[in-house]
Amino acid sequence: MYAGAKAFFYALSRSSALKRLASTYGMASDESFARRFIAGERIDEAIAAAKRIESRGLLLTLDYLGESVRSLEEANAATREYARLLDLIVASGIERNVSLKLTQLGIDVDRATCVDNLRRILDPAQKHGFYVRIDMEDSSYTEVTLEVFETLWQQQYRNLGVALQAYLHRTEKDVRRMNELGARVRLVKGAYKEPAAVAFQKKSEVDASFVTLMRLLLDEGVYPAIATHDPAMIEATKAHARERGIASDRYEFQMLYGIRRDLQTALAADGYRMRIYVPFGKQWFPYFMRRLGERPANVAFVLKSLVREA
Ligand SMILES: Cc1cc2nc3c(=O)[nH]c(=O)nc-3n(C[C@H](O)[C@H](O)[C@H](O)COP(=O)(O)OP(=O)(O)OC[C@H]3O[C@@H](n4cnc5c(N)ncnc54)[C@H](O)[C@@H]3O)c2cc1C
Repeated sequence: MYAGAKAFFYALSRSSALKRLASTYGMASDESFARRFIAGERIDEAIAAAKRIESRGLLLTLDYLGESVRSLEEANAATREYARLLDLIVASGIERNVSLKLTQLGIDVDRATCVDNLRRILDPAQKHGFYVRIDMEDSSYTEVTLEVFETLWQQQYRNLGVALQAYLHRTEKDVRRMNELGARVRLVKGAYKEPAAVAFQKKSEVDASFVTLMRLLLDEGVYPAIATHDPAMIEATKAHARERGIASDRYEFQMLYGIRRDLQTALAADGYRMRIYVPFGKQWFPYFMRRLGERPANVAFVLKSLVREA
């Protein structure tokens, strides 16, 4: 069921008819269904959402949605948009923290250009004190993402971190690789449909891997981000930190915009650092479909909204 739901939504996410339907209704009004997970299509909407999040005592990272670009023009346009986003974040006074994807900056088109594009974001980001996180995409990008990260790390870009996925068999090695560098890791379960050859398929296996890697990051890593909505993973993290005497300012929890707001608020109220990942932009469909795949019950909510709007 765990892998099956992901596979189903992955197939659906490739349907252009569904994409058209969702694009028409998903963000049309303030109540439209995609707004539960996406802060808006425009930067000003994302900044307004960010201010509301900060007023709840939470940290944030802004993600300008986009992935799988197939031309240099698109990759350059996304890079320019990120640079504009940095300026607007500085002007707004919200926290300076963004997340991005390498396929958005052209890794499928040309690796050197993608690295240049990333530098065009990292330079102003460094100047203005931003932290930049590279999201992790499907397993065909794991190695190249870590290599690009390491290239920039060697060039002294230290305001930069990566995400690693607990569902991949290779990740323990990658956690050790990042810990050795002293690089910051965001640990997630993993959101893509992956074959058994590279990834655990059962929830119990993914959870066990997550706990092992969380401990490795807390014990030997640098300020890890434990990114999950799963209460069992959160409890395991708190318990391990308690046992090892690791103070709550030496790591942070992260959750996605619109998911388990109750838990977000409760953790912050208990004195834990809680960062919310705030996605926005017109290219929200693939992100949105991954969120449906994680929890099929979300589909009922979307269908009800569609019927109401149509
Ligand atoms: C800050 C952040 C950044 C991320 N970055 C990446 C990345 O770079 N690469 C990547 O592959 N994945 C990323 N993910 C997604 C991650 O891999 C998982 O797919 C996602 O977090 C769901 O897993 P879970 O840990 O919440 O546990 P699950 O076992 O999937 O869910 C636990 C509980 O959380 C709640 N929940 C989870 N998902 C949803 C949902 N969509 N809607 C409603 N409730 C839900 C439910 O109550 C569920 O029972 C990120 C997640 C977070 C929080």
